[in-house]
Amino acid sequence: MGTRLDLMSEQPAPSPTPGSTPGTAAGTAVGTAGSDPVSGSPLPAEIAAALKRDSAGLVAAIVQQHDTHEVLMLGWMDDEALNRTMTTGRVTFFSRSRQEYWRKGDTSGHVQWVKSVALDCDGDALLVRVDQVGAACHTGTRTCFDGRSLDVVTGTAG
Ligand SMILES: [Zn+2]
Repeated sequence: MGTRLDLMSEQPAPSPTPGSTPGTAAGTAVGTAGSDPVSGSPLPAEIAAALKRDSAGLVAAIVQQHDTHEVLMLGWMDDEALNRTMTTGRVTFFSRSRQEYWRKGDTSGHVQWVKSVALDCDGDALLVRVDQVGAACHTGTRTCFDGRSLDVVTGTAG
């Protein structure tokens, strides 16, 4: 009888973590868990790692006419949309409202031909320089900002 009790009481006893040394037990194992949204991205690893996506997984993409420097519009890209933009010569966005990819110009004919793509300093915005065919805005204006100036108090240096 005595031996049985001893065995039963020993089995559920938690064993100390193998390999943990008394002084440094707390630090090491915890850090690796959270860093995984990058895997599965179609983008090169260093680009995927540099992107700072919002809670929907998207990054803002400012689109600019490459030669006149007009700021044409703002769209949103996830990793796949950015990858398509970087590899097909055509700008592709991800629509928040429709939850789908859309390639600029497919329905309107107002294609954006990619000239360059840059990632900003902290990784949460893209600058896409393009050659814009026709109107960038779905309302028919050349840019999304044409005729939409707000009244502001202007500033001057000095
Ligand atoms: Zn617009």
